[in-house]
Amino acid sequence: MNKIGIIGKPLSHTLSPEIHNSAINYFNLDLIFEKWELEKVNLKQFFSEAIKKNILGGCITIPHKENVLEFFNDYDDSVKRIGAANWFKIENNKIKGFNTDFKGFERCIPITLLRNIPEKKCIVFGAGGSSKAVVEALYINKAKNITIVNRTIEKAKSISDKYKNIEIKVAELYSPETLKNEIENADLIINTTSVGMSSGPDPKGNLIGGYNLKKNVTGIDLVYSPSRTPFLKTISHFDGTVVDGVEMLIYQAQIGFEILTEKKCPVEIMKTALKLN
Ligand code: NAP
Repeated sequence: MNKIGIIGKPLSHTLSPEIHNSAINYFNLDLIFEKWELEKVNLKQFFSEAIKKNILGGCITIPHKENVLEFFNDYDDSVKRIGAANWFKIENNKIKGFNTDFKGFERCIPITLLRNIPEKKCIVFGAGGSSKAVVEALYINKAKNITIVNRTIEKAKSISDKYKNIEIKVAELYSPETLKNEIENADLIINTTSVGMSSGPDPKGNLIGGYNLKKNVTGIDLVYSPSRTPFLKTISHFDGTVVDGVEMLIYQAQIGFEILTEKKCPVEIMKTALKLN
């Protein structure tokens, strides 16, 4: 039987099987969804055997969105621009990478904020695969005031350096004095790190704890397990608008599933699978 699935590690937190099985059942497709929990060293063997194992494609999550690129034969424009992939599709014996995080994230930004994004101060925590998609979405929507905050400053700088016609600021995570002014004046704060993720490196961590946020700030957390992260609780504490990671997860999944199967599953079906309706 043909297979699709998810590549990542850890995968204990993933909601992708529920989401995609709901779409497979909705269209009554002859497909199974598998979890491929792989170390970086196992990726080469996985992709070299994928075709003979009847794998049609799948999604890619932490920490492999950049690690997978060297095993692809072709890249969608989204991957060329962003430098990370969260989906792959195998067709005519070729493996092609796609990035749907970018569109999925864009759909999560509240519409009035999105329209006014050029005047807004945006902070992006993290400089991994998903941060690249988030920064690209902000840039495409003409954000002019973006700061990337990361533990490893070189990674933040390498994202910022890609953008030649705007200045994207970078800041080191553990420099609270420098960060105070940035964070306390932000209109939109996005967490793209795995801090706060239940099966991640720092489940109770909160990168905006201890700051006095602007009233009406918007906070988007890409972490979706748990749905109410310490980050989002702090945003609520300042009467801010909260967008949890499940929303983006569903949008990026809908687009990815459509790339693989050419069928657009209603988001309501995917939400019902997660008991959100
Ligand atoms: P990634 O490429 O591995 O990047 C991880 C990021 O988290 C890096 O910036 C890393 O900093 C930072 N980080 C990790 N541990 C940290 C710690 N203890 N303290 C401070 N920073 C730390 O991962 P990714 O693919 O971007 O995914 C990141 C998170 O977003 C995951 O929780 C993933 O599930 C979630 N996500 C959700 C969606 C969705 O649809 N909702 C989509 C994409 C991603 P360094 O660079 O210093 O290592």
